[in-house]
Amino acid sequence: MIAHAELQMSSQIKMQNEKSKDIGSKIENMDGILNVPERPIIPYIEGDGIGPDVIKATKRVLDGAVEKAYGPQKKIVWLEVLAGEKAQKKYSEYLPEETLKKIKEHTVALKGPLTTPIAGGFRSLNVTLRQKLDLYACVRPVKYLPTAPSKLKNPEELDIVIFRENTEDVYSGIEFEEGSEEAKKLIEFLNNEMNTNVRIDSGVGIKPISEYATKRIVRAAINYAIKNNRKSVTIVHKGNIMKFTEGAFMRWAYEVANKEFKDKIVTETELFKPDGPYKGTMPEGKILVKDRLADSMFQQLLLRTKQYDVLALPNLNGDYISDLAAAMGGGLGLAPGANINYETNIALFEPTHGTAPSYANQDKVNPTSAILSGVMLFRHIGWKEAADTVEKALEKTVSQRKVTYDLARQLEGIQPIGTSKFADAVIENMKAV
Ligand code: NAP
Repeated sequence: MIAHAELQMSSQIKMQNEKSKDIGSKIENMDGILNVPERPIIPYIEGDGIGPDVIKATKRVLDGAVEKAYGPQKKIVWLEVLAGEKAQKKYSEYLPEETLKKIKEHTVALKGPLTTPIAGGFRSLNVTLRQKLDLYACVRPVKYLPTAPSKLKNPEELDIVIFRENTEDVYSGIEFEEGSEEAKKLIEFLNNEMNTNVRIDSGVGIKPISEYATKRIVRAAINYAIKNNRKSVTIVHKGNIMKFTEGAFMRWAYEVANKEFKDKIVTETELFKPDGPYKGTMPEGKILVKDRLADSMFQQLLLRTKQYDVLALPNLNGDYISDLAAAMGGGLGLAPGANINYETNIALFEPTHGTAPSYANQDKVNPTSAILSGVMLFRHIGWKEAADTVEKALEKTVSQRKVTYDLARQLEGIQPIGTSKFADAVIENMKAV
């Protein structure tokens, strides 16, 4: 009894100490379930280019939402970890091992965009982070933000969630420069042993797509669709041309759907089978699983927006379609994202856009994409009230036409405000939420 009372007292003292000193604790993954303390330590990477501007604004908005939703009871304890140019300056390396260690240790992190040199230089830090932490699902919800300007006639029809495979495909980094020993060796092997006809002056890249990685991304997409009452999952591929990579992606995707989710899904073939039970009408509560060729998907998404919901794609197609979807929703400045491993629960939340170097340090760009990535982070850790607070305040701010340059230029007679002023307006609007 005494021991119990002592234990209680010491844990109360510990909590008081944590509150007074702003000390936080780690979010832990316990058998697939997140154990989130009241003061979670959340590591963040500011990023390069516009990264510092959007991440600073985002942290302020997220802190404001936590205060509004929970008062002093909860608070994020931010922990900066370095990557990109800032890490290079301090440690002479772009992605220190310590950064990866801290993200793994704390399970959930926020990240700004990082520069990747084109046609040479070091390998993409974004891709390396995703591969080293095995964050296989790049999840990008694109939903029209009410009252935001849009090029579409019916932008409210846009409400999709992209599940892009993050670890394979031509992004796996198996690429050899034209003229290198490796390229020559590989081309000779292909031409001599595999009866191919690759030109000797080629650079070569390899596109691996495995059953394992395909099945886990499709499983994650279908699980998401079930949990979130979505209507369909579309497998997007270019399997008519790349039969054994993209074609196999489609085949394995249907295998997962049919073997693991049989009682929860109906495939498009089954739905329209003349002698089948459905006769084109979806049964209540089930998810439609269909597939589309990647090229066709681009026009389908524009012309038949309403028919698409959750999409599952290999890495490259997923990257392309993310920017199209973001543009349809009002621009890259509005599109959030996360890189998640649903087994370890490690998740890195980051905007879809890059470092937009020409706008760096101008306090100009739209922080909404990073802020909405923070909303995804809140939902991931179960802080629903804080997530709702941000979403409502964002909507109100845009409806008041307090917007950054990217949205202002799509509206008539609206003077844009800067990144930090936009964050101020969102925080102000939280008071009324
Ligand atoms: P980008 O940085 O995404 O910028 C392309 C254009 O998108 C900008 O010029 C701007 O368009 C618009 N935009 C992007 N972010 C915006 C924001 N927050 N608010 C308003 N508009 C925004 O793409 P990029 O110029 O092709 O790539 C630059 C660098 O970023 C490259 O090194 C690339 O590798 C890297 N990158 C990193 C990530 C990542 O870290 N995950 C992702 C993509 C790219 P307007 O000029 O028309 O206004």
